[in-house]
Amino acid sequence: MRQSGAPIEAVKTLGPDGPAPVLLLCEHASNAFPDAFGTLGLDAATRTSHAAWDPGALALAARLSSAWSVPLVHGTVSRLVYDCNRPPDAPDAIPVKSELHEIPGNRDLTEAARAARVAAVYTPFVAAVDAAVARAAPQAIVTIHSFTPVYFGKPRSVEIGILYDRDTQLADALLSEDWGGREVRGNEPYGPQDGVTHSLKLHGVARGLPNAMIEVRNDLLDDPVSREAVFRLISRNLAHALDRFGIGLEGAL
Ligand SMILES: [Zn+2]
Repeated sequence: MRQSGAPIEAVKTLGPDGPAPVLLLCEHASNAFPDAFGTLGLDAATRTSHAAWDPGALALAARLSSAWSVPLVHGTVSRLVYDCNRPPDAPDAIPVKSELHEIPGNRDLTEAARAARVAAVYTPFVAAVDAAVARAAPQAIVTIHSFTPVYFGKPRSVEIGILYDRDTQLADALLSEDWGGREVRGNEPYGPQDGVTHSLKLHGVARGLPNAMIEVRNDLLDDPVSREAVFRLISRNLAHALDRFGIGLEGAL
């Protein structure tokens, strides 16, 4: 396993620097494999597959950030190097297998190698979120993800998942909005039992901020027309839901 002491850029923050009503996150925005950690023995097909990242999620999150003039903190490294939506002690923070894909470069890592991944990717991501919270003083945190339409060979009918942990208030509000006939479900296709609510707990629940994770089936984000329709729906419904908490979003539809 190659290792390097050179820092890598593991996170980016977009949008305004000042106060903002909402902070957006997108942990699985990138399928980049920095030289410091190599390609983990993966072929190009795996490195561009949903196992490596959430296709379409960054485009959607950036569109929301731009429309609402709110900051977005997003990852710039594949989740197969380190999954910023997992704490360092979670086995799948550096997965040895993701759905059908074995990750050879993650097998039998030494403690030092794991610590290097944490220091290079997770620690800067958390620091960037902390800094964005300090600057924006947001009243809510929303994280944007996408999921694969077929998982372990089984098609998924759910189109949008609203995920939540102990604090259900924003998710409850979102789930009661009008989704125009789309199949929208709470804690599907994943939920807290899958370990996917780490960011919600760390960045939202712990601060007492209303929070939710929005998971969009990635075939709905494939082309610009469909992605724009999803953007408009989520923007409108999130604005309505946040309004119930007295949180106003400029530029929301
Ligand atoms: Zn994700």
